[in-house]
Amino acid sequence: MNAEILCVGTEILLGDIVNTNAQYLSEQLSLLGINVFHETVVGDNPERLSECLDIALARCDMVITTGGLGPTYDDLTKETIARKFGKKLVLDADSLARIERFFDRLGREMTENNRKQAYLPEGAEIFANDWGTAPACAISNGEKTAIMLPGPPREMKPIFEHCVRPYLMRFTDGVIVSHSIRIYGEGESAVETRLRDMMTGMKNPTVAPYAKTGEVLLRVTAKARDREQAEQMLEAPMREILSIYGDKIYGVDVESMQQAAFEALRERGLKVASAESCTGGKFGQLLTAIPGASEVYDCGVISYANSIKHRLLGVSEQTLAQFGAVSEQCAREMAEGVRVLGGADIGVSITGIAGPGGGTPEKPVGTVYVGCADSRGCAVRRLTLGRGGDERELVRDCAVLAAFDMVRRAALGLAQLN
Ligand code: ATP
Ligand code: MG
Repeated sequence: MNAEILCVGTEILLGDIVNTNAQYLSEQLSLLGINVFHETVVGDNPERLSECLDIALARCDMVITTGGLGPTYDDLTKETIARKFGKKLVLDADSLARIERFFDRLGREMTENNRKQAYLPEGAEIFANDWGTAPACAISNGEKTAIMLPGPPREMKPIFEHCVRPYLMRFTDGVIVSHSIRIYGEGESAVETRLRDMMTGMKNPTVAPYAKTGEVLLRVTAKARDREQAEQMLEAPMREILSIYGDKIYGVDVESMQQAAFEALRERGLKVASAESCTGGKFGQLLTAIPGASEVYDCGVISYANSIKHRLLGVSEQTLAQFGAVSEQCAREMAEGVRVLGGADIGVSITGIAGPGGGTPEKPVGTVYVGCADSRGCAVRRLTLGRGGDERELVRDCAVLAAFDMVRRAALGLAQLN
């Protein structure tokens, strides 16, 4: 089974909006084992839409459209597709009742053109839209299938999850199960080199790497008769990858590094305190975005100025004068200082040069020291992030990621990376 994604909307072509629908659908279809060979964008123009549909239906089994299902004159997707399949649009009473109820609930008057949304291609399978007005639908002639989804992502995504995915499962025999293995401390190309034979030699299950900011995600996927069989097939490659990367793997099917660090702290009943300079509170921000963060976090200091590093955290004036704020010594004293100040088990610190300006030959832009102190002592990692250009956010994000990894390692009693 292969599919083409066809996003309809002049605003995408004008660059007014980003085509997030295509990205979402590509990801979802690949998880279902449906190959996406083409993605197309076309404006709200009936002739060009018709042309794109001809091309898509000629080269793919299935076309999935988003957009153009609304009530206005430029919403033409259903009409155009119905014509291709030789079908009329007919009123669907259930959809009309839903649309009426939707307006009732909002206390708004329903205009005549909203009735238009309840007209659907004859014989189509209808996916009720509980998140907006325009129902989605699928039409098939046995050989080719077209699925029409609304444009707004907040409607398109839940309809996909609740209605379209179960519909598509009919086309894929069996189930697809995948796990994501998250690795920190090894670059994407290194991972790819090390696993190349494994990756290229495998058809089912498959192993695929995805680079994310500062880390690598490996997705291991199996297609099988049922879930149990798929899990069995995944066991051997998972075991192999786990043995290769050991504790560089911070989690399997976890959401993020901060989540892994949070769980490591919580399971052991530990608290962390943070002292941040160039990241301005990003560590605290990401940690406190997790519900239950108060169980592991009482205190964060944004010590941007040297005077605050000295006054609040106890970094010695001599350290600041001799080595500077961006130094191993300063990171150590910040981590130790905030650990005491916050009465925490673990103190973590970040101090660096985020750029774009401010670097020196010895400490170029992107130089960051991350310190982590616990009862056993204090480790400091020196990072050189970015490529020396204007990558302020990248440098800051990678610095925070490293800090969470050090906290995770400290909480689990693992050795720190250099
Ligand atoms: P409506 O009933 O809102 O008119 P519709 O199905 O007709 O829905 P469009 O009119 O094409 O959809 O798009 C409505 C809005 O949905 C757009 O203004 C945009 O904000 C969002 N949208 C549409 N297509 C995409 C896309 N491919 N990616 C992200 N957002 C999109
Ligand atoms: Mg519209």
